[in-house]
Amino acid sequence: MESKQLDLTHVKCCVCETDDAIPVGVGQDFEYRTSDDTFLAMQCSSCGLVYLNPRPAVSEFERIYPENYHAFDFSESDFGLVHKVRSRLEAKRVLELCRDLPDDARILDVGCGDGFHLKLLKKYGKASWTLEGVDVDKRAVEMAERSGLKVHLGNIEELDLPKNSYDMAIMFQTIEHVEKPEKVLSAVLRVLKPGGKLVVVTDNTDSLDFKFFKGSYWGGYHFPRHWNLFNRKSLKKLAEKTGFEIARLSTVVSPVNWVYSIHNSLVALAAPRFFIDRFTLKSTVSLSVFTSLDIALQKLGRGALLRAILQKPSKFLTTDARG
Ligand SMILES: [Zn+2]
Repeated sequence: MESKQLDLTHVKCCVCETDDAIPVGVGQDFEYRTSDDTFLAMQCSSCGLVYLNPRPAVSEFERIYPENYHAFDFSESDFGLVHKVRSRLEAKRVLELCRDLPDDARILDVGCGDGFHLKLLKKYGKASWTLEGVDVDKRAVEMAERSGLKVHLGNIEELDLPKNSYDMAIMFQTIEHVEKPEKVLSAVLRVLKPGGKLVVVTDNTDSLDFKFFKGSYWGGYHFPRHWNLFNRKSLKKLAEKTGFEIARLSTVVSPVNWVYSIHNSLVALAAPRFFIDRFTLKSTVSLSVFTSLDIALQKLGRGALLRAILQKPSKFLTTDARG
């Protein structure tokens, strides 16, 4: 186990740019044990954003995302039935979002990881669509390229992608990981066509799982890899600040934060390993149970994930200073 402390950096609320926040949670890297540090989740008194402060410096990226990180190896061989069920469900969700896209649509997956969603679009979507991804992690990009996908390596705000070019962008479980959410949204706004949409999916802090487990073990903290965690209010405020129009804000069912909240609680209680292992992304029983629970909560508008469909204004000035 690593014992050296991480280099940390102090930040403000990325939505309000103020430092008026109260601590809501404290915890450690329960899942990967990449360090022994204890982290603090702060909640902005104004917009409700929950953010890690202090958080690991960007230079610690490779340490906090170890080789066995699940976004890099969510493979069919390792995850069997869970992979199959999740693929089917996600394919349905993502195709639903693409329903109105033209035949020549250009789609960008920002934070595409190993290309999970792009592969689904390639398999089930229209063959005439152009699919591209962006990811900062070389290992993830290599995996996506091995599946024949076109992926740009780097931060979208630093890549020189063509402006006004994409019909749709997706950011699934990405915004909570990025260093500067506003810069990322601005960069996406720039490359979207006027009227184009961006779909953001992220952990929901207005959820019941957050309420139960926020003191320490909430799965959505994913200490220390989730730097900004949103609710409807903070996500709306950030999107509007960036220049997007809100087309729709809703929640989406997911068992993952329930399962990991329990997993983390059991780790902290030093429960036997075989029992802890019942609560992972490989455990079909607990994933099914908590999917059912979250379906019920979703009906009350309190699903575990938040989904924002944002639109670039159709009269967006294409000659603005951002170029
Ligand atoms: Zn704030």
